[in-house]
Amino acid sequence: MPSLHLEGVSKHFGGLKAVDDITMVVPPGEITGLIGPNGAGKSTVVNMISGVLSLTHGDIRLDGTSIATDRSDIVARRGVSRTFQNIRLLPEATVLENVLIGFHRREHAGVVANLLGLPAALREDRAFRERAHSLLDRFGLDEYADTEAGNLAYGHQRRVEMARAIASEPDIVLLDEPVAGMNDVESDELATIFRELANSGMGLLLIEHNVGFVTRLCKQVYVLDSGRMIASGDPHEVTRDPKVVAAYIGT
Ligand code: ADP
Ligand code: MG
Repeated sequence: MPSLHLEGVSKHFGGLKAVDDITMVVPPGEITGLIGPNGAGKSTVVNMISGVLSLTHGDIRLDGTSIATDRSDIVARRGVSRTFQNIRLLPEATVLENVLIGFHRREHAGVVANLLGLPAALREDRAFRERAHSLLDRFGLDEYADTEAGNLAYGHQRRVEMARAIASEPDIVLLDEPVAGMNDVESDELATIFRELANSGMGLLLIEHNVGFVTRLCKQVYVLDSGRMIASGDPHEVTRDPKVVAAYIGT
């Protein structure tokens, strides 16, 4: 299983250094945290890794191979998957169809991942449907398989996004605030799934505002503030670091 390396990565939007010369590693088989106050640059990091945004400086390597200039569909095919901070499902497609798109992304890179581009063969393929149902089951969604995704409660839509992101069996999955807006019971259920995924060898990058959640789950945590990496390491130590405390209190 490959690891993901960011080396000296920056993103400037005009004069704003949204991400400023950061270096980090997402190893396989672990949950790595990326925390920081609003506007710190966390989503921008995910957008660069996943090929949604170009880099201003630096390199991103997957198992030694640069993916820094790859388009998002190529990054997905190489085994790096993501969720979005703002949910992006096809609201009029069923929950099952939304998950089927996840298989499609890995196996048919370059095709626009929408329902029109989803070949009937894939939609009707029994093996894919069975795999999709077992994913839905894992996320407690199977009873909604035929429901239009847009009609689900927010917490359930987030789960559909996650099921879709891992459908392709990625090596690395980037989760942008996956438990935002969920209650403690729902967050704990997802925490269990995240641990299982890491135990199966997947490398997870967990972006989260809730420091307690990250501390419970992550082996290593990175802290961004105004685009700069102000601390990294063991989550219990990092979250006691006065610089980190100040960054959180300052918001
Ligand atoms: P976070 O996810 O940590 O809350 P973001 O990565 O979304 O932070 O944003 C970091 C900074 O970059 C913010 O100041 C934000 O306004 C700015 N930013 C993000 N995306 C863009 C963009 N596409 N164009 C211009 N500025 C952006
Ligand atoms: Mg964000």
